[in-house]
Amino acid sequence: MLLAEVEYARPSSVDEALRVLSAHEGARALAGGQTLTNVMKARAAAPDVLVDLADLDELRRIVRGADGRLEIGAMATYSELIASPEVAAVRPILAEVSAQIADVQVRNRGTLGGNLCTSDPTNHLPPLMAALGATMTIAGAAGERVVKADEFFLGVYMTAVAPDELLTKVTIRAVDGEGDGFDAVTIGRDGTCIANAAATVRDGQARVALGCVAAVPVVVSAAAEESAVIEAVRAAGLDPPGDVHASAGYRRHLAAVLAARAVGKALEGRS
Ligand SMILES: Cc1cc2nc3c(=O)[nH]c(=O)nc-3n(C[C@H](O)[C@H](O)[C@H](O)COP(=O)(O)OP(=O)(O)OC[C@H]3O[C@@H](n4cnc5c(N)ncnc54)[C@H](O)[C@@H]3O)c2cc1C
Repeated sequence: MLLAEVEYARPSSVDEALRVLSAHEGARALAGGQTLTNVMKARAAAPDVLVDLADLDELRRIVRGADGRLEIGAMATYSELIASPEVAAVRPILAEVSAQIADVQVRNRGTLGGNLCTSDPTNHLPPLMAALGATMTIAGAAGERVVKADEFFLGVYMTAVAPDELLTKVTIRAVDGEGDGFDAVTIGRDGTCIANAAATVRDGQARVALGCVAAVPVVVSAAAEESAVIEAVRAAGLDPPGDVHASAGYRRHLAAVLAARAVGKALEGRS
């Protein structure tokens, strides 16, 4: 048997899911399972109860809300984001970046909420959310609260979502004169990121979020011009980790190069 013994709950509403999470200290939400089941197999996590969110249709919706903003349920999969007409109309960069994640199997199962709640520094979506200024709705026993992307990611595998809470929705503003861009250097064609950068440009100003160079995305702002962006990244004093895939110095170099490329794509209105 691969997994340690674990209880399984399959609630039919968010309220019921929250009740199960609060009742068991060792309970964990199960979304697409693309990270959680792997860490359980490796015995790096051993929840007592898995709270499967699969039946919560209310967490799957992708809708255009007030002011045309995009409201995406945490359980929307990457494949659903890629196919969504709402995403294509409001913030197509989200579909374009989701299409770069791993393979079809991972994209069919993996969810927006799972990607963000994992807070893996090598994941594609945390820097994108930081660059776009997304907001996260978190539900708990006391009700809902809304957290900005800048305050959502707290560390490696740590977010503002407490163990007895759920990320329910991600809200992204409609494009209002912005261009968005993303670039990454990955391990192999569809592999994990060695470094990545997401950018949004408005009125000549770029907001760039750098991934894989710290525990959480590092946000820098600069004039939307190559040398200014490179200078801003260098001035950020990055101290990235070095590993078998890239030394710290190479990652620091990549961060500046990818930031400039992401801003260039944002200026061209493509990603
Ligand atoms: C082979 C492979 C390659 C991959 N490559 C990449 C890659 O290149 N880029 C990339 O970005 N990702 C990559 N991933 C990770 C993948 O994107 C996962 O889908 C993602 O990290 C987790 O999403 P999930 O829906 O599978 O969440 P799960 O694995 O089910 O959950 C992950 C964590 O988030 C928590 N969680 C999930 N949803 C919620 C919620 N709504 N509220 C509160 N907590 C929640 C869970 O309790 C758990 O702790 C890869 C995965 C695999 C297996």
